[in-house]
Amino acid sequence: MSRNADSGDRRHVTVVEVGPRDGLQNERVRVATPTKIAFIEALADAGLRRIEVTSFVHPRSIPQLQDAEAVLAGLPARDGVTYSALVPNGRGLERAIAAGVKEIAVFTAASDTFVRHNIHMGLRESLDHFVPVVAEARRHGMRVRGYVSTVFGCPYEGAVLPEQGIAVAKELLALGCDELSMGDTIGVATPGDVARWLEAARSAGLPIEDIALHFHDTRGTALVNVLVGLQHGVRIFDSTAGGLGGCPYAPGASGNLATEDLLYALHGLGYDTGVDLAKVVAASSLIATQLDHMLPSRYYQAARVQACLPV
Ligand code: MG
Repeated sequence: MSRNADSGDRRHVTVVEVGPRDGLQNERVRVATPTKIAFIEALADAGLRRIEVTSFVHPRSIPQLQDAEAVLAGLPARDGVTYSALVPNGRGLERAIAAGVKEIAVFTAASDTFVRHNIHMGLRESLDHFVPVVAEARRHGMRVRGYVSTVFGCPYEGAVLPEQGIAVAKELLALGCDELSMGDTIGVATPGDVARWLEAARSAGLPIEDIALHFHDTRGTALVNVLVGLQHGVRIFDSTAGGLGGCPYAPGASGNLATEDLLYALHGLGYDTGVDLAKVVAASSLIATQLDHMLPSRYYQAARVQACLPV
């Protein structure tokens, strides 16, 4: 049975806003804590109900997110809004519990070399390492999301077979994850790849209603990949306001799918998201002035031309 409460209405799509964490993590310019808090509050004002706001990795490993506690302390609780955080290990979980976080995310990948480069252990070891973390989080009543990177391709290994990501997804569900976010980390997936992956996942018995898709627009395929996901029953998609966060493997290239572009397409298809697109543009404009590049969201750029917003 599905663990996702939102899965009843097929016309509803859940947009998980990951800009404050996944987006900012990949930005060179350090953003001040009060600006982050104002940005996150503006995203919640826009109607986004699930916002990944920070990460409890070691402060030295991602300096941009070393203010995790201060960001969370600055966010008053809101009815129906979940502020989640990435947790790499037991120490990170302790910090998340102390900060009052209700949802955490753990992370691994479909390809062993990527895991070794990122968290300095093998894929098998990373899954074993998360067993006590997920168990302890669940004892604290937390919801747990599992990220699987490099599902459609790996910067070190190249092509990744659907079976690799599916096997990791099954292990994370068995560990106690409520939801999985399957990531196209280097933005290589084509619509054909996504269709094949989702057909393989369904055949393998993965619950599609508990799967989120996390696309990067590096090669311009993110939105069409979303469409294929919708056609195969996926109703949860990750995105970042403004398209925040470049591609860490291709400097200057586009990374995360932009929330504005995703919402524009979803609303045009008749899906309900509960999110006010104009208010997401307003949230993005708060962060735009802080960065050393233009926000890549196409919708944001069009809205900026019309309303004289900052790039
Ligand atoms: Mg991403």
